[in-house]
Amino acid sequence: MRIARFVHHDQIAYGTVELDEDRGEHPGTVSVLTGDPLVTAVQFTGERLLLGDVRLVAPVLPRSKIVAIGRNYRAHAAEFGHEVPEEPMCFYKPNTAVVGPGEPIVYPRQSTAVDHEAELAVVIGRICKDVPVERAPEVIFGYTCANDVSARDFQHKDGQWGRAKGFDTFCPLGPWIVTHLSPAEASDLGIRATVVRDGQTIERQDSTTANMVHGIAELVSFVSSFATLLPGDVILTGTPEGVGRIVPGDVVTIEIEGIGSLSNPVVAADA
Ligand code: MG
Repeated sequence: MRIARFVHHDQIAYGTVELDEDRGEHPGTVSVLTGDPLVTAVQFTGERLLLGDVRLVAPVLPRSKIVAIGRNYRAHAAEFGHEVPEEPMCFYKPNTAVVGPGEPIVYPRQSTAVDHEAELAVVIGRICKDVPVERAPEVIFGYTCANDVSARDFQHKDGQWGRAKGFDTFCPLGPWIVTHLSPAEASDLGIRATVVRDGQTIERQDSTTANMVHGIAELVSFVSSFATLLPGDVILTGTPEGVGRIVPGDVVTIEIEGIGSLSNPVVAADA
């Protein structure tokens, strides 16, 4: 299933997305659910909407935390002159950084060096602690696309990453959560980032989740070894090589094979 979160009758609703490319102008539908499938068992309301008629928002708003993994693709670590760490390197992004598909990334007044980072996001479905690697599939709700937007100037200046990666709007998520992939299947997906600037499409990142150093199940197990994970928590699994600058006026798109495509315009803080 693909679980979307969207605005419906001026409220947040959840639904399952059915894609049907053959329908031409109407590429898909959304079947509305009675509640949040991360919180409670839900049913279909029977209402069905055209996907093009709904405004998607971030498919999950983490209640407690977004744990992000640094330097988890060897070629990305190398592009900044780093080795990959022996154990996963973890940092947090605040839930106030989350935005959804189409929502702007606000370029901070204080920064002159903001990068995109295409990442596979793992959404946790159950409260859990000390999860063995082999049981990680039981606690994963699904996967979505993420952009770990990063102010490199503050990342270097501060020496730790809380501010650099914690600005409002620095964690686009979406377009929906795919729940039907196993960790093994999610570990072999094409992952890309493109930037449209002045009408030109710039190819930036183009890799595969197979290039992660620490795999999905290992990351879930590792994070749960120090922090209790709650339903709706998100783990960002690191970015491949090819990160690059974004500036106001750009539209940045993160695309993961079998999951979907997440596009966000970049706007100046004072726009
Ligand atoms: Mg990252």
